[in-house]
This record gives sequence, structure tokens and C-alpha cells, in this order.
Amino acid sequence: MSSGAHARDLVDPFDRVVRDLRISVTDRCNFRCTYCMPSEGMQWMPRSEILTFEEIERIARICVERYGFDGIRLTGGEPTIRAHVTTLVAKLAALGVDLALTTNGATLRNSAFDLREAGLSRINISLDTLDREKFAQMTRRDELDNVLAGIQAAKSAGFDPVKINAVVERGVNDDEVVDLARFGRDEGLEMRFIEFMPLDASDEWQRAKVVGQAEIVDMIAAEWAVEQLPARGAAPANMWRYADGAGKVGVIPTVTNPFCGDCDRVRLTADGQFRTCLFATDEFDLRDAMRSGETDDQLAARIEAAVGTKWAGHQINQVNFIRPQRSMSQIGG
Ligand code: SF4
Repeated sequence: MSSGAHARDLVDPFDRVVRDLRISVTDRCNFRCTYCMPSEGMQWMPRSEILTFEEIERIARICVERYGFDGIRLTGGEPTIRAHVTTLVAKLAALGVDLALTTNGATLRNSAFDLREAGLSRINISLDTLDREKFAQMTRRDELDNVLAGIQAAKSAGFDPVKINAVVERGVNDDEVVDLARFGRDEGLEMRFIEFMPLDASDEWQRAKVVGQAEIVDMIAAEWAVEQLPARGAAPANMWRYADGAGKVGVIPTVTNPFCGDCDRVRLTADGQFRTCLFATDEFDLRDAMRSGETDDQLAARIEAAVGTKWAGHQINQVNFIRPQRSMSQIGG
């Protein structure tokens, strides 16, 4: 589905049509998740280097109007801490795309309705544990109650399904996979488990800490009968349906079952760098190009040139894997 007549598809060297733009609106966050950031010492991007809403809207409009992008996801850091983010949501919703946002949920009880009102169509809320103490350890914030209240606010605001993202780390929260799945079943939420990825700022990722899709599904299937749903196209999650009708559960198996072959995503960082892959080791400036007066045609040419360099997929499972210079909070999920 593309949003109306558009010049042409943006196709990468592996014949994948690019349709989805992930936009990081800030590198800042009100949490300090251990698999993402150190507790102290993160170097924040200077505000002058962060894209304005007008600049973000301009890049998004080029992607939608010229290449038929039909999906935009807002990420961070934590997107809801960017001031007046509902203004940006309204600008992007006006482009007629499927607009989603990923949040840690801590401020959602105050913003869920406004985000929905502004035109947000989908929401993913991160929740890695139901244990208050462990939550404080994993996020370095005592905010579990706020996140749970945020989830309820998202449901009340009409987001359906409300998707919950849980990063599973061996020896940290893998003992809660079944509890989190049960939480999703009981609350009518779509639980999605994410394999731990080598994007933490502290560079402590180890393959041994990865709990793979097979293990996660085995744990769930030992509790409830599940049946795998057909392939998902470009969507990152593999999905299962509970045989007893209690909804769906998913896994995003970036490490053990890469899905790069169907990837339709590109990214825009908060400081205006265009990335063709979450794990890309190079990026293409759009901010200074915009600020130096380039036209939409020139910016579009930069986007096309960048997509023309997109690789087949990440190389986590290869000996020559090089971590991107940026950590997750500086790229956006
Ligand atoms: S790792 Fe890169 S190529 Fe693979 S699915 Fe993610 S963004 Fe796409």
C-alpha cells in the first residue's frame, strides 16, 4: 500500500522497496537502561544540532510524496520527553502515513490521549520486567508504576493493539518471559520479546547473553499452546497466536533469525543523519545539507544515493562484525 500517487519506489541494491522511516527525535532519555546507556556520562547532542520539527517534517514529506513511504516510527532516546512532540505527531500524521511511536511509557499517563488526538496510530511501550526492584536495576529508575499506568492510559486512549516490547537478557530477566507473556494475555496486550542486540553504549553485549527466539517460544509453549502465524512481510516480529484465543505474542529475532531479507526500513537520527540500517557503520548527512539551502531535489538525490549503498543485512553473526559507532539511544529503535 503506498500513500497515493508518488514518483517512484525507492529500491535498494537487493530489490527491497524502502517504505518505512524511523525517526529519532532526541538522543535524551529519562531512563538509563543497562542494555542501552551507562548510568552517567552520556554525551548529549547539542540542541543546535538536533533537527527542528520543520526539518523532520520536510525529510518525511520527501520520503512519502516522492517514494510512497507508508510508515513512520518515532523513537529516541525517549521521544515523549521532546517538548511539544504532539505538534510533530500532528505534522507527520497529516502526511497520511501509518504513524507509530516507541516509548518507555513513563510519561504516557499524561500524554496518551494527546498523542492519539494528534494522529498517532500505533504505540509500542517498553517493559522488560514486572518486578519493581529489577525494574529499578534495569532502568536505573523506580518507575514501574508509572509505566504500568502508562500502559492503561494507552489502552484507554484507544490504541489497539497496545504492543509491549521486552528486551530479554540472559541472567537478568529471562526468568520472566512466562510472567510477561501472562501479563500480555491478561491485559489484552501484544507482547513482543526482543533479542538483546550489540548496541549498548557500555559495549557489554555478549552473544552468551542473548536468549534466542527458539528458547523464548519454548518457554511460552510449555505454558500455553501456540501456533505460528504466517510470515510477516517486512515487519520485524515473528508472531504466534495462542490456541485458546488469548491473543498473540511475538519475537524480534535480530540475532538468531535475522529478517534483513525483507527489510524496508531506513532511519533519520536526531541530528539529521540518514542511516540505511540500524547497524550501519556509515551515514549520510541531511541536516547540514538542508541548512545550507539544498532543494528537495538535492535532498532526495542524497537519500537515493544512500539507499543505493544499503547492504544485504547486519553482520552480527559474522567474524567481521563491526559495531556501529552510535549506541541505540543515538540511532533510535
Ligand atoms: S539489521 Fe538493518 S538490514 Fe537488517 S532488518 Fe534491521 S535495519 Fe534492516
